[in-house]
Amino acid sequence: MARDYYGILGVDREATEQEIKKAYRKLARKYHPDVNPSEEAAEKFAELSLAQEVLLDPKKRSIVDRGGDPMEQGGGAPGGAGGFGGFGGVGDIFEAFFGGGTGGREPRSRVQPGNDALLRTQITLEEAFSGVRKEVTVDTAVLCDKCHGSGSESGAKPETCDYCKGHGAVQEMQQSFLGNVMTTHECPKCHGYGEIITDPCRQCAGDGRVRATRDLTVKIPAGIASGMRIRMADQGEVGHGGGPAGDLYVEVHTTPHKVFAREGNDLHLELRLPMYDAALGTALHVDNLAGETTTIDVPAGVQPGEQIVLAGEGMPKLRAEGAGDMVAHVQVVVPTELSKEERDSLEKLREGHADTARVHTGEDGGGEGFFSRMRDRFRR
Ligand SMILES: [Zn+2]
Ligand SMILES: [Zn+2]
Repeated sequence: MARDYYGILGVDREATEQEIKKAYRKLARKYHPDVNPSEEAAEKFAELSLAQEVLLDPKKRSIVDRGGDPMEQGGGAPGGAGGFGGFGGVGDIFEAFFGGGTGGREPRSRVQPGNDALLRTQITLEEAFSGVRKEVTVDTAVLCDKCHGSGSESGAKPETCDYCKGHGAVQEMQQSFLGNVMTTHECPKCHGYGEIITDPCRQCAGDGRVRATRDLTVKIPAGIASGMRIRMADQGEVGHGGGPAGDLYVEVHTTPHKVFAREGNDLHLELRLPMYDAALGTALHVDNLAGETTTIDVPAGVQPGEQIVLAGEGMPKLRAEGAGDMVAHVQVVVPTELSKEERDSLEKLREGHADTARVHTGEDGGGEGFFSRMRDRFRR
């Protein structure tokens, strides 16, 4: 049975947070272990603290207001009693005892807090760059609008289960090769709640909630990374008995971009430069994620593998000032099909050049990268 938390503190159901705290302080002074060392007082003090905790927590208090007890969560959601979206509980797995006793099992609160829900949404890298409002469709349990969560067609209060006398569990003697074994089962009549709704709501069958889809707008901030979750408080599943809704988490995934690869807040891209552009230098224009044009100045004599960094041209930092960098990786492309004229000009170029093809040695310097790369490769 649900505890009377309001009664414990001696406040009415409309009591404000201040009134609850005041009532608690007044009574706590009387029963505090420093003042009153008796066992009775200690129990009373624990009860007061619990009542204050419950009534100051809006979610727990709403369970109390619906006739439930947030501190009696029993074995979780009842198995088979309409668990939503695969969030079912362990239902009928209960402890078996040798020789009896209920093991202190209490009925679970008929009003339960709802589960959190998770859904995923895809955005483009452009949307992650600028931030976006995204429509999502949520398919979850909402409060039954016929009975407003009470589960009862007429609005009548639930009655104590006559089968288990409100314990939520029944004991059974079973014969086994070990002898007689007393087992405790969830009460089949009340499903462990200890209470029965005598005239269940026709729309929700007494569950206090129904399944429904609804559309929500999620505000996705600029700079969000793939895999991050946005929490939308109280937009999750409504609990059994109309209990307070859990939260909704929207997991954001970005689709791969055709130009940019993101790493932290940096945006990497690859440039393919014909060898004459690498030798002479050039300027390239790239469509950036803001829908504008970024100019990348390629200096004359740029080498393959070199990086050109454009500071502050990357992704905006999430909920912070500044942005990452844009990093252009240089690839030099050597022409493979040459016309007669091109061939002649290149030949002429080669003849007039002092630098000739040769084998690179360790003494050349600057080759350390190559040697360590090779060593790493052999080590694998
Ligand atoms: Zn209903
Ligand atoms: Zn029962």
